[in-house]
Amino acid sequence: MSVLDAFSLNGQVSVVTGANRGIGRALITALAEAGSDVVLLVRDPDGAQPVVAELTDLGVRAAAVGADVTQPAQVEAAVASVVEQFGHVDVLVNNAGACIHRPALEVTEDEWRYVMDVNVNGVWHCAQAFGRQMVAQGSGVIINVGSMSANIVNRPQWQPGYNASKAAVHHLTRSLAAEWAPLGVRVNALAPGYIKTEMSPVDAPEFRRHWIEDAPMQRYGMPVELGPSVVYLASKASAFVTGEVLVVDGGYSLF
Ligand code: NDP
Repeated sequence: MSVLDAFSLNGQVSVVTGANRGIGRALITALAEAGSDVVLLVRDPDGAQPVVAELTDLGVRAAAVGADVTQPAQVEAAVASVVEQFGHVDVLVNNAGACIHRPALEVTEDEWRYVMDVNVNGVWHCAQAFGRQMVAQGSGVIINVGSMSANIVNRPQWQPGYNASKAAVHHLTRSLAAEWAPLGVRVNALAPGYIKTEMSPVDAPEFRRHWIEDAPMQRYGMPVELGPSVVYLASKASAFVTGEVLVVDGGYSLF
C-alpha cells in the first residue's frame, strides 16, 4: 500500500453527528472526499437534505438519519437504521456539541445540565451504541470532537461547564480506547482551537484581543482546515494510534 492509499476511505461507512452545519459539515465532506459513504446523524434530517445532495454529488452514498444525541433510544434506532441501509458502520465522529458563555456564579442548573447532556452524555450514548456495533463487527474507528478548552481556560468569556465537558470527552476517549483496542476499535479525539462557526463568534471585536492577538498564528481556523485531520484519524494512516488527542489550534494552547 502506498502512503496516500493509507488515507483512502473507499468502501467505508462514516457517521457524523451534527453534520448539517459548522465543523460537522466540513468533517463529513472531508470523509466523503476521501471516498467514504456518509451518514449525517442530525435532529432534523429533512432540513439536512441539501447537504445530503452536496455529498451525493461527490460520488458517494449519503443519507441523513434523525436522532437527538441526548436521547439514547433515538441513538439506538439510528444505529439500526444505518446498519439496515448501509450494512456496516466503520467510522463514528461524535461532533454534536453546545457551549454557553456565563460566569460560574451565574450558570443556572438548566444551563449546566444542557451542556453536559449534549457534550458528555451525547458522546457517551453514541459511542456506546455505535461501539457495540463495531465490536460485533470486530472493527471500527471513533473520533470524538473535544476541544483545546479541555486543556486551557478560555478568556475573556467564562464557560466552566463547556471546559469541564470537553475534559470529560478527552478522558472518555482514553478510557474507551484502552477497553476496546483488543476488540478492534480505535478511539481518538480531535481538539480544535477557535474555528469560525455559529458557536464561535471569532470576528466579534470584544474577543479579538485574546482570541486572535494572543494566538501564535494571529488568526482563527476555518472548519475545512480540520478535514485532513479527521481523515487521518479515520483511516489506516493512523492504524497504530488510539487514545490520542490531536490538538488543531494553530498553537493557541502553547501560551
Ligand atoms: P455549531 O453550533 O455550528 O454546530 C453544533 C452542531 O451540533 C449542530 O449541527 C447541532 O445541530 C448539533 N447538535 C447540538 N445539540 C445536539 C443534539 N442534542 N443532538 C444532535 N445534534 C446536536 O458548532 P461547531 O460546528 O462550532 O461545533 C462542532 C463541535 O466542535 C462541537 O462539539 C464543539 O464543541 C466543537 N468545537 C468547536 C470549536 C469552535 O471554535 N467552533 C472549538 C473547539 C471545539 P442543530 O443544527 O440541530 O442545532
